[in-house]
Amino acid sequence: MIGLVYFFAVLLGLCVGSFLNVLIYRLPNNMNIAVPGSHCPQCGYKLKWYDNIPVVSYCILRGKCRSCGGKISFRYTLVELGNAALWAGCVAIFWNTSIPVACISAVSLSILLTMTCTDLEYLIVPDSLQIALGVLATALIVLSATGVDKSVTWYSRLIGGTVFGLGFLVIAVLFEKKAGRESMGGGDIKLALVGGVLLGWEKMLGAMLVATIVGSIVLIIVRKTAKQDKNTQYPFVPFMALGMALMIFFGDFLIKGYMDFMTGLIPV
Ligand SMILES: [Zn+2]
Repeated sequence: MIGLVYFFAVLLGLCVGSFLNVLIYRLPNNMNIAVPGSHCPQCGYKLKWYDNIPVVSYCILRGKCRSCGGKISFRYTLVELGNAALWAGCVAIFWNTSIPVACISAVSLSILLTMTCTDLEYLIVPDSLQIALGVLATALIVLSATGVDKSVTWYSRLIGGTVFGLGFLVIAVLFEKKAGRESMGGGDIKLALVGGVLLGWEKMLGAMLVATIVGSIVLIIVRKTAKQDKNTQYPFVPFMALGMALMIFFGDFLIKGYMDFMTGLIPV
């Protein structure tokens, strides 16, 4: 039975991943997400259904457009596979405890993956994605309040949204006053607010720790290897999304381990 669930999670995850690729390309460019149908960006060739099967078509076409032979970015396949892996992970971790939480987590992770790609490629995090994530976060408040989701309390979610939303806003305003330039984009602040509700304050704190540490290390490496001037903008949402994904999957485990470790330090 659970094997069947995994099978459908991966299959559906691949198809949704394919749709995420459409969102990643069209939302930042303010294009309609339904029409026109998928086409080759180089020659305009309209993809037939058999050119559009996740992963499979890429392999059959060997990464080239059927019509013009132009290169198809491997990123499309990577997003499809990544999304399928995230969905399978949700089945592994949440399916036994709560199916609604498993589904909401899966869709939330898909949205975080989409935000990561749009921020990396265009330095844009579409508001429509923030709103969609906000709706899921609100649904989780209800699930927590009604006891369906036992891992995070409803008030931890409200505290998380308030503290991280306001916290990021205050830091952004203070930094801008002092340095005279933007430190964080509006996308970071909105995701801090939504993420605080989505994860609850404990897990969001862990997520932001991961984001800051990993983000700093990557920034140092990028600055050393590519000589860019100090005012170059760097995306931060990918690091926030990474931290949030880790805490969505392993937050309960990590927090329990941390608490056990801390209580172990107290002499009895
Ligand atoms: Zn083409």
